[in-house]
Amino acid sequence: MTDKVEKSEAEWRRELGEERYHVCREKGTEPAFTGAYWDCHEAGVYRCAGCGSELFRSQTKFDSGTGWPSFWDVIEQGRVARHEDLSYGMRRIEVSCAHCGAHLGHLFPDGPAPTGQRYCINSLSLRLDKENTD
Ligand code: FE
Repeated sequence: MTDKVEKSEAEWRRELGEERYHVCREKGTEPAFTGAYWDCHEAGVYRCAGCGSELFRSQTKFDSGTGWPSFWDVIEQGRVARHEDLSYGMRRIEVSCAHCGAHLGHLFPDGPAPTGQRYCINSLSLRLDKENTD
């Protein structure tokens, strides 16, 4: 998982489908309380929908009340990249998959202990791997 994924936008669109393409490659946001995972409590590892990279563990998922799956930590440093996002008149930290560049969501400093971080992620950017429950 060290080499970056390089694909044309046409390839991404074909692989991901319209909904996932919009979120992952055009930085869209799924409507709150609509995604597959905001209310999911199953054990497993959440992988990137674009490339399969392991991003978050279910053990670090918490109910944020926002309507998006929320995590207080990443599975491993370096898996998730951070970028300043000044869109919509706000200053936010956008997070993306470090491997394929897929947009994931945003990071806020108001999460629970022990990190105080809240990774607010689109369900469409993720796929839950229920086999992997380490
Ligand atoms: Fe990825």
